[in-house]
Amino acid sequence: MSDSYLGFANSPLGSRVASMLGLPQPLPLERYQPGQPVVRGSVLVGAGPDAKLLPALAGVFKAIGAQTVAHRDVPQWMGLANPLGMMTGRWGTDDQPGEKVKALVFDATGLTDSGQSDALYRFFHDAARSVLPCGRVLVLGRAPESCTTPRQATVQRALEGLTRSLAKELKRGITAQLVYVAEGAEDQLEGALRFLLSPRSAYVSAQVVRLSKPVGPVAAPQDWAQPLAGKKVLVTGASRGIGAAIAEVMARDGAQVICLDVPQAQAGLDEVAQRLGAKALAQDIGSAEAPQALVDAALLDGGWDVVVHNAGITRDKTIANMKEHLWQAVVNVNLSTQERINDALVASGALKTGARIVCVSSISGIAGNLGQTNYALSKAGVIGMVQSMAPVLAEQGITINAVAPGFIETQMTAAVPFAIREAGRRMNSMGQGGQPVDVAETIAWFASPASSGLTGNVVRVCGQSLLGA
Ligand code: NAD
Repeated sequence: MSDSYLGFANSPLGSRVASMLGLPQPLPLERYQPGQPVVRGSVLVGAGPDAKLLPALAGVFKAIGAQTVAHRDVPQWMGLANPLGMMTGRWGTDDQPGEKVKALVFDATGLTDSGQSDALYRFFHDAARSVLPCGRVLVLGRAPESCTTPRQATVQRALEGLTRSLAKELKRGITAQLVYVAEGAEDQLEGALRFLLSPRSAYVSAQVVRLSKPVGPVAAPQDWAQPLAGKKVLVTGASRGIGAAIAEVMARDGAQVICLDVPQAQAGLDEVAQRLGAKALAQDIGSAEAPQALVDAALLDGGWDVVVHNAGITRDKTIANMKEHLWQAVVNVNLSTQERINDALVASGALKTGARIVCVSSISGIAGNLGQTNYALSKAGVIGMVQSMAPVLAEQGITINAVAPGFIETQMTAAVPFAIREAGRRMNSMGQGGQPVDVAETIAWFASPASSGLTGNVVRVCGQSLLGA
């Protein structure tokens, strides 16, 4: 569904009216187009004392072809970047900011005490007005639970408050994320930065991502434009909406896609599959025989590399008015059946080593929602499944993660009454709803062979929605 206010607020007349009346002025977000560079503009690098990731970052920026400049507090950057053949220099002077930049990246991994937080102030105070529209901010730290002293854990945890506030202050389609990078996960930075610095992450903001040591085989894609080349990917609920967008992005990234939906959706399913050169699989995942049917289909394909549990349903009623079968249907399709399918696929060996399971939760599962006790229980359960299964599946070299979409422009949200729909659209830092492709790009990032350091993560695709924040 299109957002006509977004178009109006960006027209010459509309922008004057919106500014006179103090109405929100959301910016059309930049989205990924094949062939684009990862970052369209320079990256300003900053760091606190004893930053650990600067050498790894220099390698990543070289690999992605990013132009960098260094904040005055990081004079060592030139000595790291120049030997790699990167043109770089100091950004600004002591009292004047330098050029406008597309991204700010701050290495906070060396912070061990809150007294050192001035380094964050200096960098973001100097640079806050110099980020271009739809820019990116990344703060890199160490997960508090991995820290060796309470003081270190405290200052590392404090980075969350900074990052979430930056995401709210910078506006203009700029996103900000915190990435906790484990020791030994430095080689996982490239895959994460290729997503988080690029327009692929247009509607992901204020998220905390944990990069751990790789799970299973480490295999960077041979061609970053087709990271899923040769991979077999099942997408459930693929006949329309977010599922169709996921199938499309997976196919664009080189995957052989298996599109699944209920037999009643056969027409839409066939249309999507035909358009993408994919297989169509008509199967109700809620049925008792679904897990075995999927195992059989996967084994016939020689095993699957990625499973995306996207299919989901809503049957909204307040709990006092809800019939038991509505409760059961939602919990079954959205949660229990996914647990059964995962168990069957793993036990039968139908998922290959290095496989990825990606689930779709919802901000309803984080914030709760009136009339959605069944749905919110199922979507919170998806988060529980991801977090509890991650260490179990890691032993088999399999990762499991979830996305939690906020307000996404689909048939489901088009059916929401106007006032509630407008509130859902605007109550986030981007001032607009997300597109199905935004969810799909995030899922493709989890699905990538470059994401073996990502497991047990839940990333919201919600433009920093105020709900559940
Ligand atoms: P949608 O209703 O347009 O699509 C869901 C698809 O799943 C449909 O094609 C449907 O036929 C299929 N499906 C339902 N039950 C099935 C079953 N038993 N077996 C096989 N297929 C089945 O919904 P959507 O908006 O595209 O949502 C996709 C996912 O994203 C869902 O899990 C939903 O809960 C979640 N989500 C959506 C939003 C949003 O704003 N649209 C927000 C948060 C989460």
